[in-house]
Amino acid sequence: MPLVARYGTMRENSWLEEHRGGNVLDMVVENCLFCKIAAGVIPSKIVYQDQDVVAFEDINPQAPQHVLFIPRRHIASMANMTIEDGPVLAAIFMTAAKVARDLGIGESGYRFVANVGPDSGQSVFHLHFHLLGGRPMGWPPFPKK
Ligand code: 5GP
Ligand code: ZN
Repeated sequence: MPLVARYGTMRENSWLEEHRGGNVLDMVVENCLFCKIAAGVIPSKIVYQDQDVVAFEDINPQAPQHVLFIPRRHIASMANMTIEDGPVLAAIFMTAAKVARDLGIGESGYRFVANVGPDSGQSVFHLHFHLLGGRPMGWPPFPKK
């Protein structure tokens, strides 16, 4: 069954239509939530996207500003990265710094973090970084005993 049929009609996403034609679904790893968000199959509030990077608002924000940054191409986790992933990683970090400035938290500051594995609470296994800001944050980021 073609992916388009399996996932139903793609939500309107003018950037994807303009830049990738009908091929975006080729990049979707089956059952990966963030691949589907990147492909526009699952709706999200996209903040920024280009051929390599997608940024969208977290559905359950933990700060006044909470944006997730992902590589468009599926990488399961930081633990699965290779040296070839270097350029997309640099693009993600530079994009996040620009989005932070655009959101007005470039000067006040922000946190940019990846959860990796069970102790961190990672719940989605497509590499992503959380941009959190808009309020003061504690450190370290776990409850005191
Ligand atoms: P993790 O816990 O893996 O570091 O982060 C996963 C994040 O994805 C969580 O902060 C969660 O709120 C967010 N999330 C889960 N499902 C969705 C969704 O369908 N849409 C959006 N925008 N964010 C999601
Ligand atoms: Zn994925």
